[in-house]
Amino acid sequence: MSTEILTVDGLKKHFVIGYEGTINRRPIKVKAVDGINFGLQEGETFGLVGESGSGKSTIAYITVGMYQPTEGKMYFRGEDLFAGNLERPLPLRKEIQIVFQDPGSSLNPRRTIRQILELPLRIHRPKEDPLHEVMRLLDMVELPIEYMHKYPQMLSGGEKQIIAIARALATNPSLIILDEPTSALDVSVQGKVINLLLRLQRELGLTYLFITHDLSLMRNVASRVGIMYLGKICEVAEASQFFQDPQHPYTRMLLSSIPVVSEEEEAAKPEKIESTGEIPSPVNVPAGCSFHTRCPHVMDICKHVDPVMVDTSPGHMARCHLFEQPAELIAPFFVEHGDAVAQT
Ligand code: SF4
Repeated sequence: MSTEILTVDGLKKHFVIGYEGTINRRPIKVKAVDGINFGLQEGETFGLVGESGSGKSTIAYITVGMYQPTEGKMYFRGEDLFAGNLERPLPLRKEIQIVFQDPGSSLNPRRTIRQILELPLRIHRPKEDPLHEVMRLLDMVELPIEYMHKYPQMLSGGEKQIIAIARALATNPSLIILDEPTSALDVSVQGKVINLLLRLQRELGLTYLFITHDLSLMRNVASRVGIMYLGKICEVAEASQFFQDPQHPYTRMLLSSIPVVSEEEEAAKPEKIESTGEIPSPVNVPAGCSFHTRCPHVMDICKHVDPVMVDTSPGHMARCHLFEQPAELIAPFFVEHGDAVAQT
């Protein structure tokens, strides 16, 4: 039985971006992440998918300790990652690494590849022979040993990203956050990087939190998929179930618009749902279900009551009023709007 390596419980991250009013100044907040729950099983790839501004990268930065959460908890193998708001201890930092979207800006142009790879080794594995480990890392990611003498700007975009992956591996992590790791690369090298990541996962037993806006990529990579919309997760399922039987109207809208390459995939696509409007500003998130301004199935209750995640089938959850919601959540709405609802 697999164990849960990362547990995210009621996570929130709100940013104050200004103030409104003159005397009673009130903070203007962006609720980048607003009450997220999920868990990662050891050895799996969990794909976290969303449009830009959905909050998925904020989750990545909280997981590696670049941001403190505003509220909620995050546990790594049961250990609170933000206990007492203290700086994360080294043994925990070594376990969780990240690969950023843009390898060009994540590698120091004044350091050689050897120096870049040696830095995490010296901090996290000081007893190892750094040169030997640099050579082992390059071999592991299938780059020539001589690359250790090069500078990042001498490498192609794909090679830079492969060095960023090698740097993440240098600490011997258990969990790697992949934040859009292929979206800045040419299509021709995306497949090579994905295949490398999959091989490394098999060989090293790594767990991946794969953050992307590219839903079609998840079909071949993820074991489970979660969809984010305006700071909240609206659907989570095993990848196979997710693509065969999407439940949330937003997921169905996304899936109905992705290109497919086979007749089988075309047949499995949900009926085309036109995307209506843009994702609203995270500063002015709509009341109730935040997707109600774009949803073809919107009901009156959707504009007033924010639904919670409910099971739609074993291992499949969605956050939507189309699925039975807890009585205590919806009862106040029907008490208040009973007459109007009865007349419609
Ligand atoms: Fe659409 Fe209502 Fe479901 Fe939101 S809760 S996705 S508006 S049907």
